Formats: sequence, structure tokens, C-alpha cells
Amino acid sequence: MTEEYKLATQALHGGQEPDPTTNSRAVPIYATTSYVFNDTDHAANLFALGEFGNIYSRLMNPTNDVLEKRIAALDGGAAALSFASGQAAINAAILTIAHSGQNIISSTSLYGGTWTLFTQTFSKLGIEVRFFDPSEPEKINDLVDENSRCVYFASLGNPKNDVPDFEKISKISHDHGLPVICDNTVMTPFLLRPIEHGIDIVIHSTTKFIGGHGVHIGGVIVDSGNFKWADNPEKWPEFCSPTPSYNGVVLEEALRPIGNIAYIIHIRTHWLRDTGAAMSPFAAWATIQGVETLHLRMPRHSENAQKIAEFLNNHDQVEWVNYPGLQTHPDHERANKYLPDGKGAVIGFGIKGGKQSAINFINNVKLLSHLANIGDAKTLVIHPASTTHSQLTEEEQKETGVNPEYIRLSIGLEDFEDIKNDINQALS
Ligand SMILES: *Cc1c(COP(=O)(O)O)cnc(C)c1O
Repeated sequence: MTEEYKLATQALHGGQEPDPTTNSRAVPIYATTSYVFNDTDHAANLFALGEFGNIYSRLMNPTNDVLEKRIAALDGGAAALSFASGQAAINAAILTIAHSGQNIISSTSLYGGTWTLFTQTFSKLGIEVRFFDPSEPEKINDLVDENSRCVYFASLGNPKNDVPDFEKISKISHDHGLPVICDNTVMTPFLLRPIEHGIDIVIHSTTKFIGGHGVHIGGVIVDSGNFKWADNPEKWPEFCSPTPSYNGVVLEEALRPIGNIAYIIHIRTHWLRDTGAAMSPFAAWATIQGVETLHLRMPRHSENAQKIAEFLNNHDQVEWVNYPGLQTHPDHERANKYLPDGKGAVIGFGIKGGKQSAINFINNVKLLSHLANIGDAKTLVIHPASTTHSQLTEEEQKETGVNPEYIRLSIGLEDFEDIKNDINQALS
């Protein structure tokens, strides 16, 4: 077993033993839809959740299983579950506990796709999203009522780059009996482990730094195993009441001997079973290759980004730079508390001359790739106001931190001098 190893070792070995049938050292891609039962009793037992095992790859797959165990280990969680995308993971994480007529409390500082999910799609499903500015977590107190089901925020606003007060947000949420969900895509477990700061459920879009090479879309939910659903069984019937589709089993009780993992098992056995946004084993395999070097890449991303942020900050064509590693950043002190190992790869900055200058800059970069992504090993650039955040109203753009001249960089692993020189020539 690999549990006693340190994080860097977990990145390479977590959740895996050499394949017992082939002795394969690398994690094999189990390209199979289904699994042969030993006999009819075995089949019946698996279907009744009497024992865990492989039935059908929409529900679980041995390649995905390694990825899930590995990310759970890195985040210090009890269990994890992979999805076809980060958005599918966010959707499942919330719709499992919030239903029509209920509400969730969310930070305004959100990824563009999450913003439209919350404001447009959830409202069609009858779920209200009540927003708070993450710089004022006390406002959560005014938004909560008996129909609230969770508090949601991102570990670093994308693209606002604000660093929330994790401990304050979790304390306030827990005082109201609500679980806290944190999207940790931008930091990854090697720069921030939200569970250590009281977060109950962590989400990653593995499309970004965890995959790390810009080749596969994916998402993961990590369940800390810390939230006590059984303290308020009426509020959480999906875990604490008999489940009609599994012979009336009460998940919270049935799973207690293994761990407090009713939430993540419910998502697997209900949400994934019924809505099917499963990650393909090919994507899981490619993502595992990324995880194996994540501990080396995140410090280098941060180191390059810190140097580029300082370079931009001293450049006379640049109006402002938003990077939590700069002393001028309003959350710099909090960033040092929560992100001692690096402040990540994402930099926002504005050039003198506003929106037109931003567009000129992007049209003149050569090494930097102009595309809609972050977290690739290569350096990326985009103008959010006309792309990722263009579906938001001007007011909404302001709330999510996107002003017209904003340029977002995701600093990659190239030689710092080459990144700097390309930015310098595009600025002039
Ligand atoms: C990209 C991203 C998502 C969505 O993930 P997909 O894998 O693209 O569905 C969610 N949150 C953040 C912070 C992201 O950067």
C-alpha cells in the first residue's frame, strides 16, 4: 500500500500496485466497457452494493480508479471521483445536494463557464444561486436560509486572482451547517490543499495543470470525508434516508465501516449512473501521466510567473499587474499564508491604451499561444472580455474581475528569457 508515502511519491505511486495479471509497471489503459462476473451471486452482490467492484465503465474503471485514488491522496481526501470535464464535476457536486426550490451560496469570483452554469442553467432547474463578494465572507450570513445547501468558491478567482480567506469562509459555512465546495483548479494540491483549511469538497478541472499538457478534458471531485451529514439527517436525505434504487439501503450507515464517504459514493451510484458524464479511461491515463510530474511543474510555473509579473510591473507600457505574488496585490499577505509554495501561473495585466492596446498585444505575440485555456505546459494568452467572459453583461464582467483592457497570461514552463522577450517585443 502507498498511503504512508510523502506527496511527491504519491504523485508517482498513489492508488497503484503493479498490475497483478501482467506485472505492467505503468498504469494500463483498461479499454473495456464491462467486466465478467464470477457467478450470479457475485453479480447480484455488486448490483446491490453488497461489495464494491467493476460492473460497467460508466460507473467505474480500473484506470480511472488509479487517478481517483491518486488525487484523493494528494488532496488529503477520503475518496475521489473522475468526470468527463471540470464542468461535469461541478454540476454533479452541486446537483447531488441542491434541488429545485433550494439555493446555494457562491462567490462572485468564478470561472466563466461556472458563472453561466450558475446564473443561467441552474435557474432553469429552479436552483437559486446567491452571490457574495469573496472579500466579504461575512455576507454569507445574510444570504443563508433553511433552503441553502452549500457554499461554493474558487481557491483563486479566475481571472480575478483574488485569494479568499479559506478558514473564514469554512467557519461561517459550518456555523450554518453547510458544506463548503472549493474549485482548486488554478492551484492544484501542490500549491494548496483546501481540505487542510476546512474545505469539505474539492473540485479540479484536470484539463488544466493536473493534466498539464493540454491534451485531455477532465474533472475530479474529492470528498474530504469530514462533513457530518448524519448530524442533520433530514437535511440530507440522499445520504441519510433509504435509497429506493438500491433496495432501501441507507448509504451513510452502510458505508460507515469504510468511511464517511456517502457523498462521493452517492454521486457515483446515482449521478454518474443516471447522467453518465464519465471520464474515458484514455483521458484518465493521459491525466495520470500529468499527475506524475505535477510536483515538479507547479513550482516552475510559479517561479516563471513570479519573474514575469515582476518584469511586467516594471515595464513602462504596463498600467497594472494582478498577481498575488506581488507586494502590490491586495491579498498578498493572505497569499503568503495560504500559498507558501508558489502563487500559481495565472497573471492578469493591463496595458496603457486600454482595450485596443490589449488586442494589439495579443496579435503580436509569437511564442505565446492565443487560446482559451490555462494550465498548459506552454505559455498562453487571452483577452477575456471578448472571449471567455464575453457572454457576461458588463456589470457581471466587472463582478468577475474582467475589465476591457484585461489580458490573462498562463505562464508555462519555457525558459523565462524567451517568455519575457516575446512579451517585451509584443509590448513595443
Ligand atoms: C477550466 C475550468 C473549469 C472547467 O473545466 P473544464 O474541464 O473545461 O470543463 C472550472 N473551473 C476553473 C477554475 C477552470 O479553470
